[in-house]
Amino acid sequence: MALYVHKYGGTSMGSTERIKNVAMRVAKWHDAGYQVVVVPSAMSGETNRLIGLAKEIMAQPDPRELDMIASTGEQVSIGLLSMALLALGKQAVSYTGWQVPIKTDSAFTKARIQSIDDAKVRRDLDAGKIVIIAGFQGVDDNGNIATLGRGGSDTSAVAVAAALKAQECLIYTDVDGVYTTDPRVVSEARRLKTVTFEEMLEMASLGSKVLQIRSVEFAGNYRVPTRVLSSLTDPLIALEEEKNSGTLISFEEDTHMEQAVISGIAFNRDEAKITVLGVPDKPGIAYQILGPVADANIEVDMIIQNQSVEGKTDFTFTVPRGEYAKSMDVLDQHVKAHIGAGSISGDTKVSKVSVVGVGMRSHVGIASKMFRTLSEEGINILMISTSEIKISVLIDEKYMELAVRALHKAFGLENSEQ
Ligand code: ADP
Ligand code: ASP
Ligand code: MG
Repeated sequence: MALYVHKYGGTSMGSTERIKNVAMRVAKWHDAGYQVVVVPSAMSGETNRLIGLAKEIMAQPDPRELDMIASTGEQVSIGLLSMALLALGKQAVSYTGWQVPIKTDSAFTKARIQSIDDAKVRRDLDAGKIVIIAGFQGVDDNGNIATLGRGGSDTSAVAVAAALKAQECLIYTDVDGVYTTDPRVVSEARRLKTVTFEEMLEMASLGSKVLQIRSVEFAGNYRVPTRVLSSLTDPLIALEEEKNSGTLISFEEDTHMEQAVISGIAFNRDEAKITVLGVPDKPGIAYQILGPVADANIEVDMIIQNQSVEGKTDFTFTVPRGEYAKSMDVLDQHVKAHIGAGSISGDTKVSKVSVVGVGMRSHVGIASKMFRTLSEEGINILMISTSEIKISVLIDEKYMELAVRALHKAFGLENSEQ
């Protein structure tokens, strides 16, 4: 019997009415003869509320205790959804991460899944039950609850689908697929019927929050067919129609050969830039600056080092905005005095905008078109980074939406056919 994993995000689980709709949709799949595992998120706003409570007690919450609190939103969701299914006459059972168990490492607030024990779940499925597993959470070797980072239920769902070798992982959300850019920012954004795994990976890593990046990594590593689709349609729409809706992440690169060079525009508001001024230009400096930052488990993204003048240079890099204060502390404590830097400055009002497309491999002139478009809008570029299939620029955050709209238009994304 084919097995499907369904994931429902916060908006989809946002009220008891919506949860009843989710139950109707899930029951429809089960009635059609499929085994179904459901991975819900907390009700919308709940995780923010819980983190807010923690911060009222401790400005920089202890990570283990924060996970203890933040993980509870999903526990409420799974119980409510299970009851909604029972009320429809279905057999259902809910499990938290530690009950499955979903084993993770101990990196609280950004833990990685290490393994999933499928025995209990399979036993329930074989007994005809619908199984509901809390997203966003797992348990480490010492029995501590650990969460997977914001948006982590996507990763839970794809990992569960991989462990159970599901036919497909269906990510139900509040938009009907992956768009050329966030449809809430550019109303002309167009839905993609398919997106290659590589493009999705870039878009997710560059800030398109429609999928958490680790879920895309899992989908790629385990070849999990994954589809993003709407939870806001009539829950009883025909199954065949639902199965073909949304956006499928494809593993075939040629699906994009005849298509637009650029598939999408991603952006990330949560960036911060740090410059270490007047560092001696000698071997080992990059390591001495970035080593302690990496040791503090902070991810560095863009990096530039200026030409040296009289043996001194400036070194600039970006970190997630939420890690800015911690990064500055690390630099003050471990780096400044040690390498004899002049001073350290920072800017937390910066954003990153990126154009993404596998077609870039075979086309030239994408970067110049991007830079021309930004210059025509009078937008100053602070940093640039490129890979084979993306170009990113760092700009003042107040121009971010303007940049995204201008680039979306310049690359003809609203018109291009899939
Ligand atoms: P969920 O709660 O279901 O996990 P998220 O808010 O995490 O939902 O992700 C869905 C949101 O992602 C959409 O509402 C949309 O605003 C945003 N988004 C950002 N980039 C894109 C994109 N390229 N395509 C579709 N949605 C996008
Ligand atoms: N509830 C968690 C969050 O808000 C996980 C998720 O929604 O995917 O980040
Ligand atoms: Mg999400």
